[in-house]
Amino acid sequence: MTKPKKGSSATRHPATAVVHNGRDPAQQHGFVNPPVYRGSTVIFPTLDAIEAYDAQPYKYGRHGTPTTAALEDALCRLEGGARTLLTVSGYQAVTTAILAFVKAGDNILMVDSVYQPTRRFCDTLLARLGVSTTYYDPLIGAGIADLIQPNTRLVFTESPGSLTFEMQDIGAIVKAVKARDIFVLMDNTWATPLYFRPLEHGVDVSITACTKYIVGHADAMLGAITANERTARLVEDARATLGGCPGTEETFLGLRGLRTLSVRLERHQRSGLAVAEWLQGRPEVERLLHPALPSDPGHGLWKAQFDGASGLFSVILNPAPRKALAAMLDGLELFGMGYSWGGFESLIIPFNPTRYRTATAWTAEGPALRLHIGLDEVSDLIADLEAGFERLNAAR
Ligand SMILES: *Cc1c(COP(=O)(O)O)cnc(C)c1O
Repeated sequence: MTKPKKGSSATRHPATAVVHNGRDPAQQHGFVNPPVYRGSTVIFPTLDAIEAYDAQPYKYGRHGTPTTAALEDALCRLEGGARTLLTVSGYQAVTTAILAFVKAGDNILMVDSVYQPTRRFCDTLLARLGVSTTYYDPLIGAGIADLIQPNTRLVFTESPGSLTFEMQDIGAIVKAVKARDIFVLMDNTWATPLYFRPLEHGVDVSITACTKYIVGHADAMLGAITANERTARLVEDARATLGGCPGTEETFLGLRGLRTLSVRLERHQRSGLAVAEWLQGRPEVERLLHPALPSDPGHGLWKAQFDGASGLFSVILNPAPRKALAAMLDGLELFGMGYSWGGFESLIIPFNPTRYRTATAWTAEGPALRLHIGLDEVSDLIADLEAGFERLNAAR
């Protein structure tokens, strides 16, 4: 159902693909969008049909509806995968994808700059199930080969890293492990499949927290796992066994968000760079963590691998007392403080990776802030931040 068809769709630009994938007006009484199916029970017409079970495309609501298939199909074609499976959150896409591959006694290699709940999953539930995790430096590249043990089953990558935006050399990692029957997974939430398609670079499984830019309006939770031919069956079985198919409303919001992804991302990218460049010139700022800035150490890798940047990056400030930082953040009018990102609104959060890094050290002295630049006008956002810096300086 979600296998991409051969032919012209494979050669279309991703911006065109997000407009057309996963819908067929001729099958929808002419309506532009696919219908929203709500349902648990699916009727089998005959004894033969219920005994054959797998021959019927839809069997039970937990395994998906035609609405699920529409978004899975759209994302699968965009990613160039064999199969896309939706999950109820981005986090569940991560846990389902990892559980698809491991058994007690296995080892996995995990990037040290990974989304923190992924790390907690490895250190708690996965450890309890007898799977060990070795954290590695995001800049390791081909050096990943040195960490492989006989029981290593997969390498998990996320590029750029959560909060700290280190770029990974995905091509070098894929090349280093491919001879060894080890799977490479990638959390690709930051770039979305519009700006980076992991499977085209030899990654086996691409993970997207659709909650962020695909849904794009901060109004639903949704995840997606896209597998290549080699891994499709394992991932499909894991999603079915763990029972993680999302609800219809969320799936519909994902389909709706996907249609405007390319215009929104273009704007997030442009405004994000403009705000980052402005921040770079401020005396309160020590440095930016944004791979699309030429000054960023990951810029070369970003440029070589990615087609664009989203609107999420971090800034490290020069040391300032906590009360000065509070004066800055508490008074912001356009930036909200809260988790998640990828919606139309601008967000800012403080973070401190020293508490959980293990393979690398976080040495920045000043406070670190992650910003999501929404669809607001850049001059207004800069004015909000400028007033924030004035409060910070006055409260020192
Ligand atoms: C937000 C996020 C997730 C988890 O997605 P949810 O939908 O919030 O569960 C996973 N990975 C990355 C990189 C994220 O930013």
